[in-house]
Amino acid sequence: MGDSRAQYEKYREYQRKYAKDNAERKTLQSKGYVRRMRLAALEILGGECVRCGFDDYRALQIDHINGNGTKERKSMTKNYHKAVIASVLNNENKYQLLCANCNWIKRVENNEIKNGI
Ligand SMILES: [Zn+2]
Repeated sequence: MGDSRAQYEKYREYQRKYAKDNAERKTLQSKGYVRRMRLAALEILGGECVRCGFDDYRALQIDHINGNGTKERKSMTKNYHKAVIASVLNNENKYQLLCANCNWIKRVENNEIKNGI
């Protein structure tokens, strides 16, 4: 019980401290900043699925080539796309584009999906 109380206080403190930041972030989002960063990341990665050539941005997903995407998938923020773009510019070859279908198939092939075929 004591723990959750402390966590709550911490959360309140966090909220107060970053209220201003969040306001700024919301402004950026409302102007489509996150969307633009996502599109920029998709474009720099070639704009189409590397497996099948599918090129509808609405179903394209950034894939971490060597797996380990779980950690990064949790933080789908503007900073994530920024990191992807920086990585591509550095020729790190860490990311690729997959469409939703190919991404799912890859995850089944890698046994990342419970109850996958
Ligand atoms: Zn595909």
